[in-house]
Amino acid sequence: MNILVTGGMGYIGSHTCIQLIHAGMTPIIFDNLDNSKASVLPRIEKVCGQQPQFIQGDIRNKQRLIEVLKQHDIDAVIHFAGLKAVGESVQKPLEYYDNNVNGTLVLVDAMRECGVKSLVFSSSATVYGDPASVPITESFPTSATNPYGRSKLMVEECLTDFQAANPEWSITLLRYFNPVGSHPSGELGEDPQGIPNNLMPFVSQVAVGRREFLSVFGSDYPTKDGTGVRDYIHVMDLADGHIAALQKVGSQSGLHVYNLGTGNGSSVLEMVAAFEQASGQPVPYQLVERRPGDIAECWADPSKAEKELGWVATKTLEDMTQDTWRWQSGNPNGYPE
Ligand code: NAD
Ligand code: UDP
Repeated sequence: MNILVTGGMGYIGSHTCIQLIHAGMTPIIFDNLDNSKASVLPRIEKVCGQQPQFIQGDIRNKQRLIEVLKQHDIDAVIHFAGLKAVGESVQKPLEYYDNNVNGTLVLVDAMRECGVKSLVFSSSATVYGDPASVPITESFPTSATNPYGRSKLMVEECLTDFQAANPEWSITLLRYFNPVGSHPSGELGEDPQGIPNNLMPFVSQVAVGRREFLSVFGSDYPTKDGTGVRDYIHVMDLADGHIAALQKVGSQSGLHVYNLGTGNGSSVLEMVAAFEQASGQPVPYQLVERRPGDIAECWADPSKAEKELGWVATKTLEDMTQDTWRWQSGNPNGYPE
C-alpha cells in the first residue's frame, strides 16, 4: 500500500513512517518543512534501512497534491500536517484556521478528485475541552477553549459531514492524548523550535542543561499532588495506532473515532521524578501560577481502540523517559540543519 503522509517529517509523522515501513507499506511524505528539517530522512533510513520518498509541498496547494496522489498511486492518506502550538494559535488564529481547517479541506478535495477515499486524521484529546469526568470515552461531549482546539474540532465536524455525504469513504479520527518519547534508537525524537510549549521537551532541555529550571504551571489543582495530570503515551505506541487503524478500518467505509492513550494519568511532578530517574540528572523546578486555559486532569478510556483495532499502548513511563533522554542527550540541539 502506498500511503501519503502529510506532515511526515514532523515528530509523530516521522515515527509513523518507520512503523509503516516495518509493516510493509510505502510512505510518501508531503511536508512544507515549516516545523521540521530534511535531516530527519537519513535518520529514518538509519533505523529501518529505507528512506521514504519526500515531496516538499504545502497541503493548501491542491494542484501539487493531485499530481502527487496520481503519480504515486496513493491508496490512503495519513494527515499530520498542521500547526500545533496552543499559545501561538491565540496570537495567530487566521494562520491556524488556514493551515489546519482550510488545509484539510483542500487535501480532501484533492483526494476526491483522484478517487482516494481513505483518510486517517490527527485529532487531539483537546476536543474534549474540560471533561466532566475521567477517564474520557469517545462519546464524551466535545468543545474547544482556544483556536488550535477549535481548528481540530472544526476539522472533525467537516470530516463527519463529508463522510455522511460520501458513505463509501473511510475516515478515521484519532484523538491523541499526550505524545512523548522518542524512537528507542535515539536517532529520532521531538525537536521543537524555540522554547518548548509542552512539558516533556521542556523537562528534557532542563536535564541536558539548555534551560535553567522548569516552571510547574499550577500546584493547587484538585489532583493527587496538586499539579496537572495527563495521559502520556509513547510516540511509538501512537505510531502503531495509525498502522492498526489503516489495517483494521482503513478500507472499511464509515467514520471511525478512537482515543489513543494509555488509560493512566501522571502528574507533572511524577513526570519530573521519572525523568530524573531515567536521566540521572536533576530537574530543578519552580511552582508558579496556573497556565490560562489548562485543565486539571485528562486521561483516556482506550478500550474502544483495543476492542476494535486490537491496539493497546505497551510502553511504560520508564520507556518514555529513557527514550526521550537517549534522544535529547545524543542530540542536545535537535536535528542538524
Ligand atoms: P510537528 O509540527 O512535529 O509535525 C507537523 C508537520 O507538518 C511538520 O513537519 C510541518 O513542517 C508540517 N506542516 C505544517 N503545516 C503544513 C502545511 N500547510 N503543508 C505541509 N506540511 C505542513 O507536529 P506533531 O507533534 O508531529 O503533530 C502532528 C499532528 O498531530 C498535528 O496535526 C498535531 O496537531 C497533532 N497532534 C499533536 C499532538 C502533540 O502533542 N504533538 C497532540 C495531539 C495532536
Ligand atoms: N506544564 C508545566 N510546565 C511546562 C509545560 C507544561 O507545568 O513548562 C504542565 C501543564 O500545565 C500540564 C502538563 O504539564 O498540566 C502537560 O502540558 P502540555 O503542554 O505538555 O500538554 P497539554 O496541556 O496540551 O495536555
